[in-house]
Amino acid sequence: MELKIYNSLTRQKQALKPINNTVNYYFCGPTVYWFQHIGNMRAFFVMDSVRRAVKYLGYHINHVMNITDVGHMTSDADEGEDKMEVASKREHKTPEEIAKFYWDLCYRDMKDLNIETPEHICPATSVIDDIIAFVQQILDNGYGYITENGVYYDTSKCPNYGALGGMNQNEKQFGARIEVDEFKRNPADFVLWVKAKDNHIQRWNSPWGVGYPGWHIECSAIGNKFLGEHIDLHGGGVEHKTVHHENEIAQNYAKCGHQVVDIWFHLEHLMFNGGKMSKSTGGIYTLTQIKEKGFSPMDLRYFYLTAHYSKPQNFTFEALNNAKESLNNLKKLLIKHKNGQNAIEKAKIDELKNKFASFVADDVNSPLALSVVWDALKNHPDSVDIYNLVLDFDRFLGLKLSEVKEEKEIIPENIIAIAEKRKQARLNKDYAESDKLRDEISALGYTILDKPKNEYEIIKSK
Ligand code: AMP
Ligand code: ZN
Repeated sequence: MELKIYNSLTRQKQALKPINNTVNYYFCGPTVYWFQHIGNMRAFFVMDSVRRAVKYLGYHINHVMNITDVGHMTSDADEGEDKMEVASKREHKTPEEIAKFYWDLCYRDMKDLNIETPEHICPATSVIDDIIAFVQQILDNGYGYITENGVYYDTSKCPNYGALGGMNQNEKQFGARIEVDEFKRNPADFVLWVKAKDNHIQRWNSPWGVGYPGWHIECSAIGNKFLGEHIDLHGGGVEHKTVHHENEIAQNYAKCGHQVVDIWFHLEHLMFNGGKMSKSTGGIYTLTQIKEKGFSPMDLRYFYLTAHYSKPQNFTFEALNNAKESLNNLKKLLIKHKNGQNAIEKAKIDELKNKFASFVADDVNSPLALSVVWDALKNHPDSVDIYNLVLDFDRFLGLKLSEVKEEKEIIPENIIAIAEKRKQARLNKDYAESDKLRDEISALGYTILDKPKNEYEIIKSK
């Protein structure tokens, strides 16, 4: 089935048209200067949902995610200080140590949330040569200029600059966001390579002096390195629409002379206390804190699944608790089906399968896909066919449903003690005592089943 995604650039749903059935997929990764909170994790959950949708519908995937470990200023529009440098001073560590520490934590949380690892994960600092070559091409093709501060992109040269964010370059927003820079030709121009001040820690040699890359160039260079000049699908947080992705489009156009990305998609934010969950405004939770409050990563994943990626999702503990309860109920029904003796007609299974796939194919609609799971589990007689069907759905859901086990009855210790005494009596061939102890266990609501070699099993009496 064909996957359609809402393209933020054309503002309509568009079918993927991959070459050789392999979807080239790029998603903007984390800036590794601080803990990633569950808002950030919603972004990576969406990255994973789209990846799983692609695979569920039968395409192959080549997925790239960058790690920003240099050049991302405290404002996305190149203002302020480099976030890595800020963290470095705060924690008295090198930028490399900061990057490793926070990336390791981020990756651990991704694994906990059952987020599949992209085929390529690439830190910006590992591809400085590629970035320099990309900037050089932009200059050679006449889209950049050199100033005392570094190398800039000339947005007046780029046709349709601003189309993604729905602005044109003369609009005030750009000027308002960007620090007055006397060397810039147009307010929307952005930096490709920054000449490093004396105290800047991260620095590399370049044809334009010692410095470091601007933030936006890494995604163009990394996308180009691993995916070439055709990217089927490119995603990221909605705040990237107006600056970061706009600039990526411009950079790609300057180097390749054509649009590189077919479909741009953007996820809306996780909200908390009336605003976006964010490091700068406070009020954040990390996955570790969520676990400390008694929730599992799969509870959080179920919670994420209940909202469409293109809508903001409000985080409350009540909502997370509802998700936890729903997931528990889902697991109980699943186990009933696992042990079910009924057969379900193939036509019915196919109908449910088709419905599920059509919701996945229609802009990755996870809430509607979940509704088919409930329909399958609740409205059919207990059957292993339904169990197998829901495990197939889990290739998209990612809830680790194949690991769900029947909860073993916990047998109280006093019952085990009587059973052990009885075992001893049987070994001593004291059958009267053994029968008496069996009755004692029965009276307490348990049944003892004898097994070969004097072993036994205790079950709760029905
Ligand atoms: P950062 O590490 O700040 O670059 O953010 C990593 C990813 O998390 C980006 O794709 C952001 O768009 C995304 N993000 C940040 N805050 C939220 C939020 N509250 N809800 C959803 N995504 C977010
Ligand atoms: Zn990016």
